[in-house]
Amino acid sequence: MEFQLEKSQQEIQKAVKDFAKGEFDKELAREMDKTCKFPTRIWQNAADLGFIGIHVPEELGGGGMGVLENTLIAEAFCRRDSTIGAALMLSCFAAEYLLRFGGDHQRQSFLPDVIAGRMLSGAAFYGAENRSGFWGNTPVAEKTNNGWRLSGEIEYVINGGRAGFYCLPCSNGKNHSPSSNLKMVIVKDGLEGVSFEDRNDTLGLRMTPTAKMILAGVNISPEELIGKENQGEKQVERILAESWVLISALALGIAQGALDRSLDYVKQREQFGKKIARFQVTQHKLADMATRIEQVRYLTYAAAKSFDSRKPEYKLAAMAKLGAARTAVAVASEAVQLMGGYGYMTEYDVERFYRDAKTLELIGGNPVNLRNAIAKRIIGRIR
Ligand SMILES: Cc1cc2nc3c(=O)[nH]c(=O)nc-3n(C[C@H](O)[C@H](O)[C@H](O)COP(=O)(O)OP(=O)(O)OC[C@H]3O[C@@H](n4cnc5c(N)ncnc54)[C@H](O)[C@@H]3O)c2cc1C
Repeated sequence: MEFQLEKSQQEIQKAVKDFAKGEFDKELAREMDKTCKFPTRIWQNAADLGFIGIHVPEELGGGGMGVLENTLIAEAFCRRDSTIGAALMLSCFAAEYLLRFGGDHQRQSFLPDVIAGRMLSGAAFYGAENRSGFWGNTPVAEKTNNGWRLSGEIEYVINGGRAGFYCLPCSNGKNHSPSSNLKMVIVKDGLEGVSFEDRNDTLGLRMTPTAKMILAGVNISPEELIGKENQGEKQVERILAESWVLISALALGIAQGALDRSLDYVKQREQFGKKIARFQVTQHKLADMATRIEQVRYLTYAAAKSFDSRKPEYKLAAMAKLGAARTAVAVASEAVQLMGGYGYMTEYDVERFYRDAKTLELIGGNPVNLRNAIAKRIIGRIR
């Protein structure tokens, strides 16, 4: 498949690359990874240059471009630094719920702040394709005289405890089948009854805040409903698929960044009197890594493009996420191996790329969920 990026898209790639080169300081990255610090200053600088929310319409403060452009930014950020790149791109994790399904007032109330780097956002993705294990824990929305009262717990919420708002699916509590009156609602920061338990001390993505969210009788008004009642399942399905494209792009960048670093290393490291890049076994490893990366690059770009063409291909998005996350883990693991003892040291960064890659394989749907999503679409109905 031939995939030619337009000139404007190549210019975005270059601008992001230059920005990341200037801003993503290696020492700072290692320190922020160790101490689980969100890269606030870099995020705000990235937002000032329009790299956050480039796919959001201009009237909401975005760049008026597409999912593909957002994909290119995510890839280029993570190629330079996996942990900083992911934290920046996941800063607006819930924005798509409002972008695709929110009313004018909801979009205007939150999106400009998110895109300007003034507000983080969070979201949950319970749904038919991401429910392994915790479907039964979907928060319950009980009807009140003026809206709903929410109760329940969400095990992991990116930007939890730090975001200005959260987009959450809630069930009516009566049954838990996928079409069970699921609705999406906005929970603003600071509402009575909302609390968080910090879950930052994780294997990877340690600059991205994560927390357990607890809703203990939280009252929300009808204005906080996103779209219509009973449409939550469809909304989750769409936004989850869009998140697969984003996570694929992050994984793609991580894989490429790990390959870049191992290439630099094998061309200067000597063993048995020659550069290790001269050994055929090393060359074949590099060839396999590059081949896997190129395969998922095409898949990821094609999935992104399908969302821009208004015919989103959920199957392609699931394939891209499944393939890209696995590729990132495999390539980063091989990079650690190729760099021997140095690959294991924090100073050389590939161990961090490896940890971040593994986390991407878990979030936004694990391989079981993704295979289910793909199988459903390739098999169709069985009579
Ligand atoms: C750092 C982090 C951040 C996260 N952020 C968010 C967030 O912001 N929003 C959000 O909604 N979620 C978030 N998550 C949740 C994430 O999407 C889930 O952890 C993930 O989907 C897996 O679900 P689970 O943890 O319940 O694992 P389980 O579903 O319990 O899976 C455990 C194991 O069982 C396997 N398994 C599950 N079902 C089957 C089956 N049917 N057949 C065979 N094997 C099966 C799985 O592959 C896995 O190996 C986050 C998770 C992490 C780790």
